[in-house]
Amino acid sequence: MARHDVVVVGAGNAGISLAARLRRIGAKDVAVVAPDRPHLFRPLLNYVAGGQATMRELTRSAAAVLPEGCTWIRGRAVAVHTDAREVELDGGGRLGYRDLVLAPGLEEDLDAVPGLEAAMSAGWAATAHLHTQAEGMWASISGMTRGRVVFTIPTEPSPCGGTALKPLFLACDLWHRRGVLGDIDVHLVTPYSGVLDVPFVDHRLLTHLHARGVTIHHATQVAAVDHEASSVTLSGAVEGPGVPLQVFEEVERAFVVPPYRGPAWLRPLAGEHPQGLVDVDPETLAHRAAEGVWSLGDVAALGTRPSGGALRRQVEVLADNIARSRLGQPLRRYDGYTIIPVTVDRRRLLLAEFDRSGRQAPTTSLVDLTVPRRALWWFDRYVEPVIYFRALLKGRLVP
Ligand SMILES: Cc1cc2nc3c(=O)[nH]c(=O)nc-3n(C[C@H](O)[C@H](O)[C@H](O)COP(=O)(O)OP(=O)(O)OC[C@H]3O[C@@H](n4cnc5c(N)ncnc54)[C@H](O)[C@@H]3O)c2cc1C
Repeated sequence: MARHDVVVVGAGNAGISLAARLRRIGAKDVAVVAPDRPHLFRPLLNYVAGGQATMRELTRSAAAVLPEGCTWIRGRAVAVHTDAREVELDGGGRLGYRDLVLAPGLEEDLDAVPGLEAAMSAGWAATAHLHTQAEGMWASISGMTRGRVVFTIPTEPSPCGGTALKPLFLACDLWHRRGVLGDIDVHLVTPYSGVLDVPFVDHRLLTHLHARGVTIHHATQVAAVDHEASSVTLSGAVEGPGVPLQVFEEVERAFVVPPYRGPAWLRPLAGEHPQGLVDVDPETLAHRAAEGVWSLGDVAALGTRPSGGALRRQVEVLADNIARSRLGQPLRRYDGYTIIPVTVDRRRLLLAEFDRSGRQAPTTSLVDLTVPRRALWWFDRYVEPVIYFRALLKGRLVP
């Protein structure tokens, strides 16, 4: 059985950035467990669904992103044996570790919404959150000229769920320019009493949603969809003893982000977390019970909304903390910083940046980034992918 100094499970944004950072600060023996599947820069998926990017732009082979000097263990982890400090692989083998970093991301739970998988297979429902559907979503949006359409913001945990507003606003912009927005009845289903429950951007988002004539269903979720009946059933605010669930009939298209959960094989490390996220100290990223186990990214219970932007700080803190724990030094702390970028039309975007307590945490005080700006859209659409592939995945620190 092979044994490595640090084993990283997952080659997404979190796993690759962390492995590269560890190498950069001097770690000599880092192994990454990952299947040989394409690596995606997922923030661009919303732009694919909104007709502003292609799948090719966001896709790289796994080999192309694996950091130099790391050992690539091709396969999937299926269990962690914390007493023996070993990871079990899908081929039946095991891999020993001194420190283990869990970064396999979240899994979508399509079964949690009856009818959703069938509706997606039929092409009637779609979401940019699943890479197989982003192009189909754009085809549906660009083909619509009339009828009722439902968009959703997912419940947490979700990979930057608030960005599900991007395709909505890009679609409304397109329909407006084509002169058909008045014939399209646009609905937004949000689990929040506001839009995202981020007060310092919600008021701006509300203004833009109202300007586009979008009907908002607050504190509500999609409970079921039925593509044969063209209906979407909502649950939440409208529920109560004797109150029937609200059903939308004659829905043309439903753009529903599925609920997410932690992977089943990590349940033993999830403590009491209701959605099975890895039970780490949200500040140090160290597992609360298993020595030498750490987690970051979407799968970690960090008490904040998951995002790629949040990873910039998590990667820095976690790489340092592995080194510090070995030297017996005090660990660094992650404040829960996260980000939600939202396009409000095809050329303007705003940023919501906040910490674990919900307090605004802007990266600059020079400009108010919560005001929709053309430069921000340009940065998010064209500059972020370059920073991602050339700096973040190479373990370089970017503020
Ligand atoms: C549509 C969409 C839009 C987004 N927009 C933004 C945005 O604008 N800004 C922003 O900051 N963030 C955005 N995000 C969020 C961002 O992409 C995620 O937060 C980030 O990708 C999380 O990285 P991760 O490595 O934790 O998980 P993932 O990206 O899910 O990567 C996990 C990796 O682990 C692998 N894996 C899974 N199970 C195993 C296993 N058992 N063994 C080995 N490997 C395994 C998977 O194949 C995958 O490669 C968006 C996400 C989506 C889906």
